[in-house]
Parts: sequence; C-alpha cells; structure tokens
Amino acid sequence: MRDIMAPESRRWRACAQVFADVVEPAGYELVIPPLMEDLGVFTRIGDATDVVTKEMYDFVDKGDRHVALRPEQTASICRAFAEHRPVLPWKAWYSGPNFRYEKPQRGRYRQFDQVGVEALGVDDPHLDVEVIALGWEFYRRLGLQQVGLLVNSLGEPDDRARYMGALEAHFDAAGDALSEQSRATLRKNPLRVLDSKRPEDQPIITAAPTIDQFWSTAAGDHFDAVQSGLDALGIHFTIDLKLVRGLDYYRRTIFEYQGGTLDSAQNALGGGGRYDGLVEALGGPPTPGIGFALGVDRTLLACDDEGVFTAPSGVVDVFVVDTTGGTAALAITSELRAAGMSADRAYDNRSMKAQMKAANRSGARFAIIVGSDEAEAGSASIRPMRVDGEQVVVDRDSLAHELQQRLQEEP
Ligand code: AMP
Repeated sequence: MRDIMAPESRRWRACAQVFADVVEPAGYELVIPPLMEDLGVFTRIGDATDVVTKEMYDFVDKGDRHVALRPEQTASICRAFAEHRPVLPWKAWYSGPNFRYEKPQRGRYRQFDQVGVEALGVDDPHLDVEVIALGWEFYRRLGLQQVGLLVNSLGEPDDRARYMGALEAHFDAAGDALSEQSRATLRKNPLRVLDSKRPEDQPIITAAPTIDQFWSTAAGDHFDAVQSGLDALGIHFTIDLKLVRGLDYYRRTIFEYQGGTLDSAQNALGGGGRYDGLVEALGGPPTPGIGFALGVDRTLLACDDEGVFTAPSGVVDVFVVDTTGGTAALAITSELRAAGMSADRAYDNRSMKAQMKAANRSGARFAIIVGSDEAEAGSASIRPMRVDGEQVVVDRDSLAHELQQRLQEEP
C-alpha cells in the first residue's frame, strides 16, 4: 500500500473529477458505500474467484462479525440497492479504494482505486452501449490515444453453462499438456482457463470452442444490437470471443479496456459487463444490471506512458510578503482566498530577503509586498514574479480587484 503524495495526489483528484464530469451529466448519482461489508456480500460474487478465495482482507470484528474490506464495489452497490430500493432505472457511480491481497508489482497493488458505474433495472442493449461509451469518453478526456476496447457476450446463463461444459471437455482432453495451474483452475471454473497467460496453455486455448457457437437467439440479437450501437457512436472495438472477466456473475455483454502501452499481464485498464442474479443474491428482487470498474492506478500509469494528463499545477497565484509583523499578511491572504484566489505567505516575521526567497520558491505569479512605507500609506506593492514587469503600488482596498485583473491576463 502506498502513500499518494503531491504532485501525484493532485492528479489523482483531478482524475476522479474528470470521471464525475463524464458520468453525472448522463444521470449517474454518486454512491459512497462503506469500505467494509459483511463477508457474505463478497462471497456471493463467486466463490471460484481468486478475488474471493485468496485475496480478501477479511477478519472477525469485536462484535464477532466476519467482515471484509471491499475487493470491488459492484457487490456493495447492489447490496445498497437491495437495502434502499431506489426507483428503477437506477444509475450510480462510485470512486474509491479497494483491497486485494495480491502480489504487488507495477500496476498491481494491495490497495488500489477504482471509479465505476452501475445501472440497474434495464435490459435494453442501448444501456450497454451507453455504459461502454462512458468509459470510452473518460479515457478520451484524459487524452489517452492507445486504449483498445474488447467486447464479447457470455450468452444467457444457460448458454454459458453449456459452453463451460464444452470447455471442460476440451481442456480435460488435453490432459497433462495443460499447465498444472490451469488444471487447478479448470476444476473451479473452466472459463477462467481462457485467461491463462502460460505459454504451454496457448495452443490448447487457441483450439478451444468459442462462446458464439452457444449463444441463444436472444443473446445473439442483444450482442448484435450492442455492436450496432457502438458503430453508430463511432466507437472502435474488437470482438474477442475468448474474453472472460475475473468475477463470476457476468452474462451477455462483457467488455474490457486495454492500455496499449502496459505489460500484457497488467494491461486491463478496466472492464465490466452485464450481470443478473447479483441483486437477488443480495436480498433484492430479480433486477438486471450492467456496470464497469476502471482502475485509477493503472489508468494513470497509461497516462504516464503516453505523456498525457499530467498533474495540475499546485502553484499559488499570490505570495504575500509582510515585513511589518505579519498582521497585514494575515488579512490579505484571507481576503484574497475569500475572493477566489490562491494565496500563501511567509510566517515568523522573517527578513525581507528570506520572505522574497520563499515567494520565489512558491512559484506564485505575483508577490504582494507590505513594508513600512506601504503599511503607513494603506497600500500594497504588486510585483510580477515570472515575467519582467513593473512593481506597482496599489491601494489596499483595491488590491483584490487589481490582482484579479492581472491574473486574468496571460501569464
Ligand atoms: P476487476 O474489478 O478485477 O474487474 O478490475 C477492474 C480494474 O481494476 C482492472 O482493470 C485494473 O485496472 C484495476 N485493478 C484490479 N485489481 C487491481 C490491483 N490489485 N491493483 C491495481 N489495479 C487493479
């Protein structure tokens, strides 16, 4: 687990803001679920997944409840829906940390942030398109150019079950040619074998049957409609019939955004899909749902690689230098901040030289200087710090206004 320090922390916050600016105008409302839930909330997302079986931070609390830090937020959002029963369709977004006991490496951490949406109560393929397009727009606004979109359909639960049977037979027939790890995965969930990156598994995976042979007419029609919608919005995608998702509850549309610059083992920036039965398993009525989770840590690594979405400036507009004891600096910083400017100052009544050095280091565009002359005359001097320019003396009463005008001009 890491500390996110400035300037990175500024970028972190700006990233969540970009996400909010994309999803809120589409009708998604922020939900802030607790960081911890009853363990059962998460075991319902699938007990064949590593996320649930191996990676959960779970413990017994002082009231003898078995709880877990959330490894993801879809289950929490569905639990919240089942508990509060907001009117359908219900569109929610979230942003915050999750916890998984994974082997830390670049792009994989034990505490990581996700932003995501969940939309409940609608079966319409247009909603699948809307959700996929929102994620796409988020990456576009960050300035990422090398994001690929993979889509697939896992069919209806019956289709998926028949497909899993066929996969099991196929992988079983391969016997020892399949890696030991994949043989273990096969016993739990044959779909997940498709996710294996081990070289010895690749020819067997390539020869495996594909899900399209098992789609029901309804599932096929739904997937066609999703593709037409993405085409209509000009969103470029690739159909990957062997795409599967880490958690067990998906059906029909699934998708993944991949970063073109990241290592293949950690190149999934985010993904999601349709799920059924999850709300029901968490105590609600049968309710269709679709959503995605996008990893903030990895998205910012992709931004680093592409040289986009750098940290916003943390530099203040104005630095106040007061050699008359500091009372003027106290009043001026407070007044300027109230007027919407960012202002910092020196403390401890240090020498003019020391305060000017601090003003320089701050990177502020203007220094405001109050010495004994200014204090006596009820004025303040404005000195441009980044460009050559005249230092001017203005009335204290008009200082905020004068500064505002100067700040609006080109730096
Ligand atoms: P998932 O919830 O497993 O579908 O993951 C969705 C996204 O969250 C992934 O594509 C990653 O970007 C991110 N993610 C998942 N696990 C981690 C982790 N341990 N560290 C960093 N990012 C992660």
